[in-house]
Amino acid sequence: MYAIFFGPPGVGKGTQAMIVAERMGWAHISTGDMLRAHVRDGTQLGVMAKGYMDKGLLVPDDLVIGMFMGRLLELRPDQGFILDGFPRTLVQARALDAALAREGKSIEIALNIAAPDDVVYERMLGRAQESGRADDTPEAIRTRLEVQKPPADLLDHYRREGKLREVDGLPAIPVVTASILRALGAPESGK
Ligand code: AMP
Repeated sequence: MYAIFFGPPGVGKGTQAMIVAERMGWAHISTGDMLRAHVRDGTQLGVMAKGYMDKGLLVPDDLVIGMFMGRLLELRPDQGFILDGFPRTLVQARALDAALAREGKSIEIALNIAAPDDVVYERMLGRAQESGRADDTPEAIRTRLEVQKPPADLLDHYRREGKLREVDGLPAIPVVTASILRALGAPESGK
C-alpha cells in the first residue's frame, strides 16, 4: 500500500510512520530525515536547504521534489511505503501523483493525524524545555506550527479523491497506532 501521513509538527507523525512501516514491512520515507542527512553530510542540497530548515520554513519545492524522486526510484516495485513529511504542498502532491501514474500506481490513503493547535503547541514547548535548544522559543514554535500545518488545499486534494482519513493524535502512542492500523485496514497485532 502507498500511504501518506499528514499532521502538524509535534503530533507524533514520524513516530507512528516508523512503527507502522516496520509492522507492515513497508518503506518509511521521511523527507525531513533525508534533508537532515544532506545537511550533516554537507552536500550541495544540504547547504541550500539549511537556511530554510533553521528558520522553520519549507525548503523550495524543486529541491525537495528532486530529492524525493531519487528515493522513489530506489524502492522495490512491490514494496509499499509511508510518506512522512511529503508532500507538503499541492505542487509536491501533483509531482507525486504524476510519478506514480507513470508506473500505473497511485496513493491509496492519506491519513491526517489530527490534534488541536494548543495541545500540539504545549507538547512542543515541553519538549523544547527538555532539549534546551536555543531556537525552540515559543515564537519559533508558533511559526513552525503555522507554516508547517498541512495546508487546506493539500488535504482537499486527497479528500476530493476520497482518500483522506482522519485519526485522533491525542491518545497514547499504542492507541494511535491501533487507530491507524484500523484506518489502513491492517491487522492490529500478530506481525
Ligand atoms: P520534518 O522532520 O518533516 O519536520 O522536516 C524538517 C524540515 O525539513 C522542515 O521544517 C522543512 O524545512 C524541511 N522539509 C521536510 N520535508 C519537506 C517538504 N516536503 N517540503 C519542504 N520542506 C520540507
